[in-house]
Amino acid sequence: MQTVNESPLRAKSLKEFKSHGRGFWRDISHKDWNDWRWQLKNRITTLEQLQRLMPTLTPEEFAGTQLASQKLSLAITPYFFNLIDPADELCPIRRQMIPRLEETHTAAWEMSDPCGEDSHSPVPGLVHRYPDRVLFLVTDRCASYCRYCTRSRLVSNATGYDFHPEFDKQITYIEQHPEIRDVLLSGGDPLLFSDEKLEYLLSRLRAIPHVEFLRIGTRIPIFLPQRITPELCAMLKQFHPLFVSIHSNHPRELTVEVRDALGRLSDAGIPLGNQCVLLKHVNDDVEIMRAQMQKLLMCRVKPYYLYQCDLIAGSAHLRASVRKGLEIMEALRGHTTGYCVPTYVIDAPGGGGKVPVSPEYVLSRNDDRVVIRNYEGKVFEYPEAADGTPTFAAPREIEESELA
Ligand SMILES: *Cc1c(COP(=O)(O)O)cnc(C)c1O
Repeated sequence: MQTVNESPLRAKSLKEFKSHGRGFWRDISHKDWNDWRWQLKNRITTLEQLQRLMPTLTPEEFAGTQLASQKLSLAITPYFFNLIDPADELCPIRRQMIPRLEETHTAAWEMSDPCGEDSHSPVPGLVHRYPDRVLFLVTDRCASYCRYCTRSRLVSNATGYDFHPEFDKQITYIEQHPEIRDVLLSGGDPLLFSDEKLEYLLSRLRAIPHVEFLRIGTRIPIFLPQRITPELCAMLKQFHPLFVSIHSNHPRELTVEVRDALGRLSDAGIPLGNQCVLLKHVNDDVEIMRAQMQKLLMCRVKPYYLYQCDLIAGSAHLRASVRKGLEIMEALRGHTTGYCVPTYVIDAPGGGGKVPVSPEYVLSRNDDRVVIRNYEGKVFEYPEAADGTPTFAAPREIEESELA
């Protein structure tokens, strides 16, 4: 088995919860450190800051930061930066956050809008791809920027997208489409809004009678757990049913701070799911992925999706193979708690939506029987049940001739 991420900072067990404290910022007061606005104000955003904090910056990272930042900003919260192991070039946090020269190269098949969102956008900021639900992009800002961001065309230095704080166009569209029963807030990261602004937006959506279900896609609990305040949770609680999908890729991201922040959301009655992106030399490893899924359950989070990495321009160095994804799925199902098993999907290039890909468990199937195999490879047969047209004769009048 491939072993990556060996490093001095690697916890004894991948599932150990650690608190990383203030690290480089040990002179900062606890009050500031735990203030999410301080964390945002003090993000690492320049090459100079990066060089100062990380003397081990490689030539690829140096050049990447110089060049790639023009496309997708560099930003890392101090809290999250402390999770980077500067001694480890393959540190899974580092690979997700520090720009690399490879990002400036667009490989074959790569696109700026790999999921064809813009072509399914009836009004700016709204993607209406599926019949009964919409994706509502409410902001172009995130607490930190993932280098493989599928919306790098939009986030951090957007051009041509209008984010009107009143959201009138988008809300009017939802009001005028009674088939929309599910609204997914994403971006950028909706939890970067002030409590007041988020409350305003959620209230307006809740006032639409046909909107049944609300959810927020966010990486804030991972990048900035300080943002998950008791006040935020009390506010969110008014809008149930409200689900939150977080985004975590590696067990090292699940710290004491993150576990506590997720606990506060859970205690507010918010069901939590995780969206994980399969990334080369980050989590494309059976052992790491199993630990990650199990550790998520310990944070009361249900693994929701495992994404094959989108064909976003400049992401070839981070994309693992579908073969590897299937191997990981195979190693989860049956081998560990069913709640640990996410749905592995490819968001179809060009705008086909999420398509599940799964190891083959059905070996053959006809009208009479289904042949299946289990996680150990043992083969079983299940007799097919009759459905569709009834097999018994429908009542009818008997013909004279039949009686003779
Ligand atoms: C992922 C996504 C959704 C939500 O899909 P679910 O399978 O319901 O989680 C909705 N709209 C768009 C455009 C999406 O990409």
